Amino acid sequence: MLREELLKLQQKEIELIRLKTKKKELETEKEKLEREASKIERKIECAKNKLEEKKNELKELKDFVKYKQERIEELKKQKESARSREEFKKILRAIAKNEDDIIKTRQQITGVETEIEALKDAYSKVKNQFEPDLNRIHERIEELEKEATIYEKKIESILREIEEIKSSVPEEELSKFERLKEKFSGLVFSDISTGACEGCGITYSSVEFKELLSKLKAGQSKCPYCGRFIYNKNER
Ligand SMILES: [Zn+2]
Repeated sequence: MLREELLKLQQKEIELIRLKTKKKELETEKEKLEREASKIERKIECAKNKLEEKKNELKELKDFVKYKQERIEELKKQKESARSREEFKKILRAIAKNEDDIIKTRQQITGVETEIEALKDAYSKVKNQFEPDLNRIHERIEELEKEATIYEKKIESILREIEEIKSSVPEEELSKFERLKEKFSGLVFSDISTGACEGCGITYSSVEFKELLSKLKAGQSKCPYCGRFIYNKNER
């Protein structure tokens, strides 16, 4: 014999499992979306980094030209005060060399500037292509978080209800119930309202079913096949 509160306890515990499963599903979906989002973010980031790197390269080249120009100015001053023809010639050669460097670097700069334009296009293309997806994913994540919070609250409240029922049932009956739960894979009370035992799946003959229903006492009657306590959902 088992008291009827334990049937309520079983129903609450099954509901708790359902809620936890649902919450877990929401979390799994959220994790999947977060992975997707960071994949997309990496793609956008990658295009941005390539552009930034090129811009840095351009800045270095421009700095190099500036440095060379300053160097030429210095050499020109030195040229004024050259003490020998040899030194004068040497300075002239150095100036020519620096001017050469500037020309070469300017050619490089033109190339890099073209590359920058292409990378800017690529970056905005990637952004335009993926940003709507990214926004959609973030919106869905927010929804999932809200849903998960609702489930969390439901879980908390059902846990309180479970505790309440447990505190109203004597310890030894609770441990008996726990043992039966182990034995019957979580389902100690089995609904037979459909004409079959919810627990073992046996369909009763109509004679047997009528007999079971007529003598049914929740917490006392058992399924003749599996031994679970039976009840009729529609009678409750
Ligand atoms: Zn059964």
